[in-house]
Amino acid sequence: MIGEATVVKNAGSHYLLSCLPDWTPFPAVLKGKIRLRNNESTNPVAVGDHVRFESATDSLSDISLKNPAQISGVLDRKNYLIRKSTNLSRQSHVIAANVDMAFAVVSLYFPEIKLPFLDRMLVTCEVYGIPVTIVLNKVDLYREEAPQAVADFIDIYTNAGYRVVCTSARTGEGVDELRSLTGGNVCLFSGESGVGKSSLIKALDPALDPKIGRISDVHLQGKHTTSLYEMYRLQTGGWVIDTPGLRGFGLVNLEKEEISRYFPEMLKISENCRFTPCTHTHEPGCAVKEAVEDGRISPERYSSYLGMIEEDRKFR
Ligand code: GDP
Ligand code: ZN
Repeated sequence: MIGEATVVKNAGSHYLLSCLPDWTPFPAVLKGKIRLRNNESTNPVAVGDHVRFESATDSLSDISLKNPAQISGVLDRKNYLIRKSTNLSRQSHVIAANVDMAFAVVSLYFPEIKLPFLDRMLVTCEVYGIPVTIVLNKVDLYREEAPQAVADFIDIYTNAGYRVVCTSARTGEGVDELRSLTGGNVCLFSGESGVGKSSLIKALDPALDPKIGRISDVHLQGKHTTSLYEMYRLQTGGWVIDTPGLRGFGLVNLEKEEISRYFPEMLKISENCRFTPCTHTHEPGCAVKEAVEDGRISPERYSSYLGMIEEDRKFR
């Protein structure tokens, strides 16, 4: 048989595929060498990839580790996230493909929020073309004590054009809203360690504990299964991609002049800058600086922007 399926797990040279939205993972290997058009990555097939497969069997249920499906091609990706293998090499590793929605999970306190870190995650999503929702978690811990800080945060990011969902994995607040956003989508949860990503995923689907409940490895038993990249199914619909590299992503190489394009609120306004390109730092007649002065662009976002421009050198 031949068919199309989604890669739900990548364990070295072995893969699990599933014909989403059905969840029936079956093993697969690459059929010969698969080359991508833009051939700079170390792995031609990544979690989230839509692939064509072939199998000598007539039914999916007959596919086994001894008789795995063969991946014969990768369909066009709507987006993908990469990581550079090393600083110097031009090679990169694709960590996930075809992500429908990213959730940038933060908490104002415990751990204390670092807005530049969040802004870098947001910029990364813009660069990769992944719609992103900000999840303000642990509100049960600080909303009563710090209502102004919560309101300010929501203001900054809704003004910048982002959706902010307030949640508490502890009380369940906002979890239904989050679930309605994950429904039917391949989702990515990103954020600093300790903000509650695992707890939220568990709140979305109590059957799933990302720290222990990985996809059963029966299909890959006896095989080398380090460096796991995989997707979980949420029983209420939707899939979550979890990889170690995505827990707090936010490293992209950008030219100084490009960075402001990925701040949605700056993009529009920068059309009115006197100079193009404009770095919005020292140039006369800069519409972005004007907008910061009159409050249309938040000073916090602008400050993250300046930080990214300064760090620019470090990240290349
Ligand atoms: P991760 O590293 O982002 O996956 O964070 P975890 O899900 O492991 O959560 C870190 C800690 O914060 C754990 O002790 C959780 O019980 C706690 N936590 C997570 N979400 C919430 C929340 O909404 N409210 C409160 N009070 N604690 C939370
Ligand atoms: Zn400018």
